[in-house]
Amino acid sequence: MPARLIDGKAIGAAIRTEVAAAVAEAVAAGRRPPGLAAVLVGEHPASHLYVRNKARACEEAGIRSFRHLLPARTSQAGLEGLLADLNRDEAVDAILVQLPLPEGLDSRRILGRLDPAKDVDGFHPENVGRLTIGRPTFVPCTPAGILELLDRSGVELRGAEAVVVGRSDLVGKPTALLLLHRHATVTLCHTRTKDLAAHTHRAQVLVAAAGRPRLVTGAMVREGAVVIDVGINRVDGVLIGDVDFASVAARAGQITPVPGGVGPMTIAMLLKNTLLAYTRRTGQPA
Ligand code: NAD
Repeated sequence: MPARLIDGKAIGAAIRTEVAAAVAEAVAAGRRPPGLAAVLVGEHPASHLYVRNKARACEEAGIRSFRHLLPARTSQAGLEGLLADLNRDEAVDAILVQLPLPEGLDSRRILGRLDPAKDVDGFHPENVGRLTIGRPTFVPCTPAGILELLDRSGVELRGAEAVVVGRSDLVGKPTALLLLHRHATVTLCHTRTKDLAAHTHRAQVLVAAAGRPRLVTGAMVREGAVVIDVGINRVDGVLIGDVDFASVAARAGQITPVPGGVGPMTIAMLLKNTLLAYTRRTGQPA
């Protein structure tokens, strides 16, 4: 039987509606709306598109968005100065710095300058540390979206064999930690992993986040597995995941499509984290 589709578009839309309802309630009670500042340095076209989409999604949910578009020649000190201002700005509950930053800017240092209470991407070292010990403040948006997809699709994680392919700080590592905290038995694979298929074949929950088009094929997947495809690869102008959809869907129990799987969840979780930051900062339930 072909796999059931996990519809990230529908689940993401449901979360955005939940956030919008909470914001509307806060505003109806006379409170200011939540605010998110997006900082983008340079001319990277995909980054401009992402920031525009995030700003639009905020506005649709009633969240104020403040866009700071800076030229590629922006200095480290200039960017750190802007972040210091945003950290102090009472109308800004959440700050995101769109990555990657242009060469010459030290991303790690920049992320370390964010007020951890406004770091809705969860990249500040304090927030990374809190996630590691299982007491997260803000969970990075893509991994949080993956967990939300699994939860809303009724996937049992406790005791499950989970395999994550990719160990980046943005996706693979935090996803593995989240699965571990939910009592899955987790294997984290990467480029030096020997015999990738031997690991993926054990997985009841398989997350592919390698950035390699169609890396995971049907023959590598356990019958009935839940397969989450994080990959976004543009091949000949078409978006392709890290999973070979046709062959994997023939064996898996549930699967996310690309596009329409993990992608829409990332923005939805950004809105959810922004609402969380607002609630914590204002000390009011939203
Ligand atoms: P990355 O390049 O930082 O990390 C890729 C990881 O995959 C590395 O740890 C590497 O060791 C591993 N890897 C690469 N090739 C491998 C192979 N052949 N076998 C085993 N492991 C291998 O990428 P990232 O930022 O983690 O993103 C991964 C993918 O997810 C990309 O396609 C990216 O575009 C996509 N992505 C999607 C969203 C979304 O919202 N859907 C968000 C972030 C990233």
